[in-house]
Amino acid sequence: MADVADVVVVGGGIGGASLAFALAREGLGVTVLEATLEYEDRVRGESLLPWGVKEARQLGVEEIMLDAGAHVAPLWKQYSEGLGQAGELPMSRMVDGIPGALNLRHPAACQALIEAAAAQGANVVRGVREVKLAGGGSPAVSYVAGAQAHEVTASLVVGANGRASTVRKQAGIVLARQEPISHVAGLLVDGLDDVPDDHDVTATEGDIMFLMFHQGGGRARLYLVVGASGQHRFSGPHGTEQFLASCALPCQPWSEQVTAAKPAGPCATYPGDETWTATPYAEGVVLIGDAAGHNNPIIGQGLSIALRDARTVRDLVLDGARTPAAFAPYGQERLTRMERLRLIAEAVAATRVEDATNRAARRAFLAEKVAAKDPEVFTLLIGAFAGPEIIPDELVRPDLLDRIRSA
Ligand SMILES: Cc1cc2nc3c(=O)[nH]c(=O)nc-3n(C[C@H](O)[C@H](O)[C@H](O)COP(=O)(O)OP(=O)(O)OC[C@H]3O[C@@H](n4cnc5c(N)ncnc54)[C@H](O)[C@@H]3O)c2cc1C
Repeated sequence: MADVADVVVVGGGIGGASLAFALAREGLGVTVLEATLEYEDRVRGESLLPWGVKEARQLGVEEIMLDAGAHVAPLWKQYSEGLGQAGELPMSRMVDGIPGALNLRHPAACQALIEAAAAQGANVVRGVREVKLAGGGSPAVSYVAGAQAHEVTASLVVGANGRASTVRKQAGIVLARQEPISHVAGLLVDGLDDVPDDHDVTATEGDIMFLMFHQGGGRARLYLVVGASGQHRFSGPHGTEQFLASCALPCQPWSEQVTAAKPAGPCATYPGDETWTATPYAEGVVLIGDAAGHNNPIIGQGLSIALRDARTVRDLVLDGARTPAAFAPYGQERLTRMERLRLIAEAVAATRVEDATNRAARRAFLAEKVAAKDPEVFTLLIGAFAGPEIIPDELVRPDLLDRIRSA
């Protein structure tokens, strides 16, 4: 006989576990089906930007992340080739009442969130395989756990199972895709005890963009972003070594410490591609987080996107939404959000890492606009930290990309 839940959430990552927590807290019967038995470092997002922290607060999961050891980053310092320190971004002033970005190891965040969901009464099943949409007219999911096959029926299935979502494929939802315009490699490191962790760092030099997000205790998540041609730069048996050596950017003051840091996880590279859809829902199914489409990781938005999705879907579900028509406003808002974030990501890639001969001119073009607080560019870039909805419609101008590229 099938088990019964109000909502089945497939995927217990940041998005799925947060939504499960928030719905269970409101008294709904929630089952979470998570493929892993233990969360592992898959080189994912570990810095939640201020607009995402606001979403976390509204979902009730900010405290959970802080209790799990999240490190608050009130400031970013920016370094640039030929300039040294080029600017500061006050994360503590991006969103009213939000003290900064939150940096937390991805597996620790997922574990804390799934435990919190279980503590609110969600039925969490780990190590599931062969998860399939089932049930014909009414939403249901079949899966295998241990040696046993199971089925659970519900009023709604939430697909929160990441970029390669099987729920999405089985529901027949197709994503549009922009091919990679960059590649993002990441590595967790220890041993940065001499590097101040009261601010995070971005630096751009040559064809590389470097990011350092402190987690406290001398640990930081490092990312290196390169152009589309750099796909294999940090892969193979010497990938980690090459990664650390490439962090030695003369424009930033912590090169010596970073290149000598101790790897604390795998080094992996992901494409800077984008996916989206206007309809992240179907009969009995709604998608959240990467399953519904992902932004280019160059601007580190995925955690915030997943939490905005979880908060929006929570509110709709508590209002009784179960049908595609009821989720249409979510699809429309998400489409607009992803369009704006795509423009920001492309502007950042075009000025920082895109394979081009006029890179210096492109960077100068952007730097001038930022220094002059030109609303078109300034507001667009701040939208990545304060939330893409702060950008007025008339300032969303994709022709900006042509102007950057032809600088
Ligand atoms: C290199 C890189 C750097 C990034 N940096 C940042 C950053 O700094 N800040 C930021 O905000 N974002 C960043 N992101 C994006 C961010 O990591 C993702 O957008 C975010 O993790 C998406 O969360 P999610 O819950 O949708 O999916 P996921 O984190 O992918 O979680 C999906 C869950 O579903 C489970 N699952 C998968 N298949 C199944 C199945 N069939 N059945 C059951 N369970 C299943 C998985 O085990 C996993 O637990 C980065 C991404 C990359 C690749």
